[in-house]
Amino acid sequence: MPRILLIEDEEGLSAALQYQLEREGFAVDVEGDGAAGLERFRRSGADLVLLDLMLPGLSGEDVCREIRKGSDVPIIMLTAKGEEIDKVVGLELGADDYVSKPFSTRELIARIKAVLRRSSGGGTGEPTSVYEGGGIVLDAERFEVTVDGRPVHLSRKEFELLQLLMENAGKVLLRERIIEEVWGSDYFGDTRTLDVHIKRLRDKLERDPRAPEHLLTVRGVGYRFVP
Ligand code: CA
Repeated sequence: MPRILLIEDEEGLSAALQYQLEREGFAVDVEGDGAAGLERFRRSGADLVLLDLMLPGLSGEDVCREIRKGSDVPIIMLTAKGEEIDKVVGLELGADDYVSKPFSTRELIARIKAVLRRSSGGGTGEPTSVYEGGGIVLDAERFEVTVDGRPVHLSRKEFELLQLLMENAGKVLLRERIIEEVWGSDYFGDTRTLDVHIKRLRDKLERDPRAPEHLLTVRGVGYRFVP
């Protein structure tokens, strides 16, 4: 089980991330400021560090620099929206990647898995992420979808939505969970966005989009993928 050290001072965000990452099978340690985070890393290490840029006391930049003096552990920076310069700085500091707030859990988890894969030399025991059902094949590594062997172009959100449904084939997924995982827990947009994306997916994937066989509505509850 990969161990993640999360250094983030916004308690609401770190609690939500800890919950979601643990649900994905990671062990998560949380520290709320830079000095404590660095101390924790030096004491107990980690397989990956999620590091907020704007931290009280010792900043994310400082922590990143200090960690890099003695370790090449993968580091993903969490930056606030619009901090373009900080993004660049984050990578120049030796971070492996960054995500900008607000980000969806799925986006973050995809980055974490990609960074861990790269750091482990690539493909060591990690199963390929290919989902199949009802003539639909989704290859999460290659970001490709085919229907009966024919390539279909999906937007990023359509792809993430389909992947979530196919990963949970047969299960009803609540609207709230889908929105949280695909759009982020701080998504305040129109909840019909989900229905619009489902409709687009049906148009692209279903033989008869008006009588869907795979992307089913569970009225008043959510959606379900049936192979
Ligand atoms: Ca912060």
